[in-house]
Amino acid sequence: MSKVIVIGGGAAGMFAAIQAAEQGHSVVLLEKNEKLGKKIYITGKGRCNITNACDTEELFQNVMRNSKFLYSAFYTCSNYQVMDFFESNGLPIKTERGERVFPQSDHSSDVIATLQRVLKKQGVTVQLHSEVKKLKIEDGQIKGVLLKNGSFLEAERVIVATGGCSYITTGSTGDGYRFAREVGHTVTELYPALVPFETEESWIKELQGLSLKNVSVKIEKNGKVLYDAFGEMLFTHYGVSGPLLLSASSMVNDYADKMPLQMSIDLKPALEEEQLDKRILRDFEENQNRQFKNAVQKLFPAKMIPVIIRLSGISPEKKVNEITKEERQQFVKLIKAFPLTLSRFRDFNEAIITRGGVSVKEVNPSTMESKIVKGLYFAGEVLDLDALTGGFNLQIAWSTGYLAGNSIE
Ligand code: FAD
Repeated sequence: MSKVIVIGGGAAGMFAAIQAAEQGHSVVLLEKNEKLGKKIYITGKGRCNITNACDTEELFQNVMRNSKFLYSAFYTCSNYQVMDFFESNGLPIKTERGERVFPQSDHSSDVIATLQRVLKKQGVTVQLHSEVKKLKIEDGQIKGVLLKNGSFLEAERVIVATGGCSYITTGSTGDGYRFAREVGHTVTELYPALVPFETEESWIKELQGLSLKNVSVKIEKNGKVLYDAFGEMLFTHYGVSGPLLLSASSMVNDYADKMPLQMSIDLKPALEEEQLDKRILRDFEENQNRQFKNAVQKLFPAKMIPVIIRLSGISPEKKVNEITKEERQQFVKLIKAFPLTLSRFRDFNEAIITRGGVSVKEVNPSTMESKIVKGLYFAGEVLDLDALTGGFNLQIAWSTGYLAGNSIE
């Protein structure tokens, strides 16, 4: 039996602590906040998308970097095991569109309460208001941790599960990156990921709050297509967000220094250009004597109409029967490729996750133990792993946390 300290009471830390305790170890979970799971609380818009009910094999395709590193973690604690864990510990779950798994209650607080119940059942000592300042190492072996209040806690094994550095109000302030560096680990460059974009166009403010469903978004750099997907997006006062753009940010992360990028929205992806032209022609014929601005009401959400009319270059007062074929065809092109210029990513405070972290080359993928310091383990977002939305990031946290806790001797 070992004396184990887990640093960080998030998804990875709680799963690691539960698993280590189940193996019979004496476990202390240190959390600097006044409560556990502050980030879990805000996940999935307060509903917590716990995991994804896809085939376990498919989990890998949704991990953006270092997916191979997760082989043991995903197969030791799969998405199905996570679902089973919550159900067998009294949390009914449900699966929604895109195989996203949520608590049936739609309350992330129920996920946290379940974890707290199991921590208690397994005899884990939870210490809140306990900020770790430093790891203590002697002769390449972990000896314990120093707290901010000056006290020293001895341990034979330490699991660092301090998360990334996004949404810092939840406690994820990047401390684990510092701990890792201080003991000789490499931390790869950190970027905000699953993050909205700012756009150059000032009129974007007029569209603030508008959400578009069933559109296609394409992102290009000098004609090279970097991202092309169908789904839902949102306009904000500074730019664009929503599921399509958050996923896009992970795909075009490498272009952070090569902004701007060209984005276009196909507002009518179900119609080919020719079909759309016919549809508009029909609308125009039905509204022959009306002004252009009144003839396109059925085509777009109200907020969009003044903007799209301005971009079309056609006078809003022009009678529909005076619009030329060329003007109409240009208008069709605009609807099929509504243009925007992505100027930069928003910062860590709006990023769902951090890309980059403790280099996985220096961590044993079968145990999560450091290859540099004996008895030191890493789990969760602190590692250089990141995935798309859909429950995959929490799955990384559960799986790596479980594996770390399970591997302790
Ligand atoms: P964290 O949850 O960040 O936990 C780290 C913990 O360590 C924190 O409690 C922190 O206070 C503590 N800590 C840090 N430093 C110290 C220290 N020095 N001493 C003591 N304690 C310390 N993923 C999904 O899969 N599904 C979703 O629905 C989803 N929605 C999201 C919504 C938002 C708005 C955000 C921001 C993220 C979302 N994610 C989602 C991502 C997911 O929440 C994270 O990837 C995941 O929580 C990471 O877990 P973790 O345990 O590694 O880190």
